[in-house]
Amino acid sequence: MKFESKLPHVGTTIFTVMSKLATEHKAINLSQGFPNFPIDPILEEIVKKKASENVHQYAPMAGLPVLLDQISALVYKQYNRKTDPQSELLVTAGATQAIFTTIQALVHTGEEVIILDPSYDCYESPVILAGAKPVRIPLNEHFLPDWNRIRSLVTNKTRLIITNNPHNPSGTMWRKEDMVELENLVQKNPNLLVLSDEVYEYITFEKKHLSVNYSEILRARSIITSSFGKTFHITGWKIGYIVAPELIMNEIKKVHQFLVFCVNSLAQASLAEYMNQVNVHELGQFYQQKRDDFRYQLKNSRFELLPCEGTYFQLASYGEISDENDVDFAKRLVLEHGVATIPLSVFNANGEDRKILRFCFAKDENTIQQAAEKLCKI
Ligand code: GLN
Repeated sequence: MKFESKLPHVGTTIFTVMSKLATEHKAINLSQGFPNFPIDPILEEIVKKKASENVHQYAPMAGLPVLLDQISALVYKQYNRKTDPQSELLVTAGATQAIFTTIQALVHTGEEVIILDPSYDCYESPVILAGAKPVRIPLNEHFLPDWNRIRSLVTNKTRLIITNNPHNPSGTMWRKEDMVELENLVQKNPNLLVLSDEVYEYITFEKKHLSVNYSEILRARSIITSSFGKTFHITGWKIGYIVAPELIMNEIKKVHQFLVFCVNSLAQASLAEYMNQVNVHELGQFYQQKRDDFRYQLKNSRFELLPCEGTYFQLASYGEISDENDVDFAKRLVLEHGVATIPLSVFNANGEDRKILRFCFAKDENTIQQAAEKLCKI
């Protein structure tokens, strides 16, 4: 049989490749972003209790009403934004499904979608599958948007700009000026929408996270994605949500109902109860401690640590150690030194290699210490 691939340039994601390599070589896995410590025992108890209740059949399409109410309350508490739980929120199977669904629902054949590099890997393929053109624009050397370049590449075909703040892989957070630039951009381009991927909204350190939720101008034109996987250390549950204005959300729901129809009911029922008992504002401090420990323990290594303002990723340059390309160096780090990381160039359409690796520090103390010991010997 002969057929043409719809995604000829797509292979296996770097997260699968590096995690597999880590397992095969019994390396410490600081590559794929996931916590390796237990979940909150309170959540564990709630799941056990909920599993014995009658919560095992299809949930309503947009989400369990009790969970939608909790999300609405959280968005109000955090950002002072009032949302109608029934028409402006959607529970999704993680942010990945939220992003895929949004792009399929809103982007037409022949339109363009701006993606800022280095970019998380699930943005581009849904654009191509929608028959649209991804326009990959590098961030500046500090991993912040290059607004002159963005402005010059917006055309009358640009439907969407995908933003990610706090940023994976760099851990950078947007400045006030960036939010103002984004506001100006949407105001000058009436057909432009923003897909604001804010899955690390609660994993922020010294600086305040500037969500598009704060801006009246941006709220009206944005689709915001969030992930309970990051916020509650449950990446394997694959559950998150979208916040968007009703008109846009109606279109997103049309796709959602045929992609998944609804999301895991036990997870939804459990989270609705858990959200009454947990304080998301402790998350930043929790991860700040881990970031600080990791940085402290790498202080005397030959890696040069870049700033980390949010997310659970730390970038480090290995320029002092080797001039190998980052993919080869990352592989050698697994094979010869027993630590798996993510090479940054894979997130760049132009393949730019700044000799930087991404380390995930969402790990228990012991893992961080063992990894740091190995890294300090290099
Ligand atoms: N978001 C995770 C990361 O950046 C990876 C999730 C996945 O494997 N798709 O590491």
